[in-house]
Amino acid sequence: YPVESIRNFSIIAHVDHGKSTLADRLLEITGTISKTDHNKQVLDKLQVERERGITVKAQSASLFYNHEGMNYLLNLIDTPGIQAQTVANFYLAFEAQLSIIPVINKIDLKNADPERVEKQIEKLFDIPTDECIRISAKQGTNVEKVLQKVIEKIPPPQCNTADPLKALVFDSTFDHYRGVIANIALFGGEIAKGQKIVSAHTKKRYEVNEVGILTPNEQPTHKLYAGQVGYLIAGMKEVTEAQIGDTLFLYKQPVEPLPGFKSAKPMVFAGMYPIDQTEYNNLKSALERLTLNDSSVTVHRDSSLALGAGWRLGFLGLLHMEVFNQRLEQEYNMSVILTAPTVPYKAVLSSAKLIKEHGKDQITIINPAQFPDKFSVSEYLEPTVLGTIVTPHEYIGKIITLCQDRRAVQKDMLYIDENRVMLKYLFPLNEIVVDFYDALKSLSSGYASFDYEDAGYQSADLIKMDILLNGNPVEELATIIHNDKAYAAGKLLCERLKETIPRQLFEIAIQAAIGKKIIARETFKSGSDKYGGDITRRMKLLKRQAEGKRLMRKIGNVEVPRDAFIRVLKRE
Ligand code: GDP
Ligand code: MG
Repeated sequence: YPVESIRNFSIIAHVDHGKSTLADRLLEITGTISKTDHNKQVLDKLQVERERGITVKAQSASLFYNHEGMNYLLNLIDTPGIQAQTVANFYLAFEAQLSIIPVINKIDLKNADPERVEKQIEKLFDIPTDECIRISAKQGTNVEKVLQKVIEKIPPPQCNTADPLKALVFDSTFDHYRGVIANIALFGGEIAKGQKIVSAHTKKRYEVNEVGILTPNEQPTHKLYAGQVGYLIAGMKEVTEAQIGDTLFLYKQPVEPLPGFKSAKPMVFAGMYPIDQTEYNNLKSALERLTLNDSSVTVHRDSSLALGAGWRLGFLGLLHMEVFNQRLEQEYNMSVILTAPTVPYKAVLSSAKLIKEHGKDQITIINPAQFPDKFSVSEYLEPTVLGTIVTPHEYIGKIITLCQDRRAVQKDMLYIDENRVMLKYLFPLNEIVVDFYDALKSLSSGYASFDYEDAGYQSADLIKMDILLNGNPVEELATIIHNDKAYAAGKLLCERLKETIPRQLFEIAIQAAIGKKIIARETFKSGSDKYGGDITRRMKLLKRQAEGKRLMRKIGNVEVPRDAFIRVLKRE
């Protein structure tokens, strides 16, 4: 396949809009997979992806397609849709001068109104209405047109097989038998079995054992050429050897490394601890492998008096955090303690001692335990995002109320047609990470869409709130919160905790506190629990369960089931 016959493309859209289904149809049309019912969302290989119906990891596949007598090699990258950033991604692609092919999906639905959607797209993105391709990914309608447009509109990669090898590592996985499998895109030269290559990042040298393309399973080939996308196995044993964004070149033919990737910025941080400290090393190696596979997760070592040695992890959002946790459980058999999620706040320090300690006067706080008190700070800052909501106009009132409740400031309001409105709001990030999307969906019967992008920091009146059980702090539930919201949130957390923990033999005080000041209190009387029956017996039973011990955490003299905290945080 000469470079002129290669096209590289990916599908960008919100979660659930049909990216993976469209990918399936493209794989079928090109004969890459057979047309059976078993092949649903083929690129979604992970268990968590199949269960949740979302793409977590971008997968690629090479498709072979004959168009007007020419054979084409089309490389498709299915993109993860776990962030609501389609609009922001559109502008990134637009600024990078990438070709954009507008596709309207789900035209088979009864209430589909593609004409209206085309007009909206024209208004929002300045794309002429006649450029949109109307498809049903589910039924396959017009999907072939998408392939033809890919060939017509997307230019072939600009690179040359005669140049020295320049291969970008854009993904990597670990196989128990074959070691590290690196997914690579060739920006120059060619690569084959037996060649000696060097990693620009680690400077380590390897001999290539196997190269091939992804269809979407690995299929060995003799060579990979400039412009192609495929995989490479080269005796890399440690997952850290194939870093995403690294450049590979031939031994003794060094090249200028590719710029790699701008790593996605974590928006949500949480502490992660092994349930049992003897599992620390196992969890450490599971984290190493999983973060190699998902480079958008950041990891810092951390420790806590109550929870022992652990980590502070950064995620793109709450769903990302949940998915990561689920993957740890399913793929690595690890159960962990996760603390309440927090966004990256900042503090401008006024205390000379602290400034000296940090070597700077502004610090980022990703852990409530490190929240500096107001006497050593001149200003706290919180991250914000610019949110775009598109909704049928009948929901505007409710949505505006919701946004105001989340401390958001309206920036724009535009009718994109006679019954659809686009609203832009500046939100404090922490107000949307947990459940904003759910709230928006439920009050608009699923019709409003939400999309956001980073919008810098703003000054904020922040405090740290602790939750106490009989006077002992529950580290999992400590949070940094806006002063105006502390009382209501403290009360709610105490109430929820009261509902969630099992009754014990003695009375328990559940309190929310800011410093030494108690702002909310619930008292949990001893006695028979809400499930009825004798408490002593119930506690004994819980303990006797094979896993009982692991599932309980003792805070002072109070025994709390591990999952109680998660249930409290998730607002079920
Ligand atoms: P993704 O999150 O963008 O990858 O979306 P999926 O491909 O997983 O699809 C989300 C849901 O929409 C699935 O239930 C699909 O069956 C459904 N879906 C996808 N395309 C169509 C379509 O053209 N018509 C209809 N009616 N449903 C579709
Ligand atoms: Mg998908």
